[in-house]
Amino acid sequence: MPTSPRRLPIFRVPECTDCGACCFNTHLDYVRVFACDAALLAAEQLDALTVVHDGLRYMRFVDGRCIALSLDAATGRVGCRIYPVRPDVCRSLVRGTGECRSQIEAKWSRREEAFARLRAGDPGPEPES
Ligand code: SF4
Ligand code: SF4
Repeated sequence: MPTSPRRLPIFRVPECTDCGACCFNTHLDYVRVFACDAALLAAEQLDALTVVHDGLRYMRFVDGRCIALSLDAATGRVGCRIYPVRPDVCRSLVRGTGECRSQIEAKWSRREEAFARLRAGDPGPEPES
């Protein structure tokens, strides 16, 4: 039976460590840090990596990306500095889903621009933790 075109993969989804697209954003309220998420972070991490706006806590975004996202210019790989205790919102985005693909389509260029700046000598934001 032929496969429906709607089911054909549009592009190969990279490994998350070769991507990081969903960790780019410019909106203050992109990644909510709920009380259950905050309970997993040390006080110093909360201060360095999160912000409180109108009484609600969010991951801090600097220069268009989450401050917990690390970029390795040498390898082109990315990582979440708090991966084992990342917020529930981050855990809920499953690699390979439609939402994941939408994130890649919308933001891959931001990842490439960030790497280009890094390789040009601009290290971008670095958390204190
Ligand atoms: S979940 Fe999807 S968009 Fe996010 S880093 Fe992984 S592959 Fe990229
Ligand atoms: S906490 Fe980690 S997984 Fe979530 S947006 Fe930031 S870098 Fe990405």
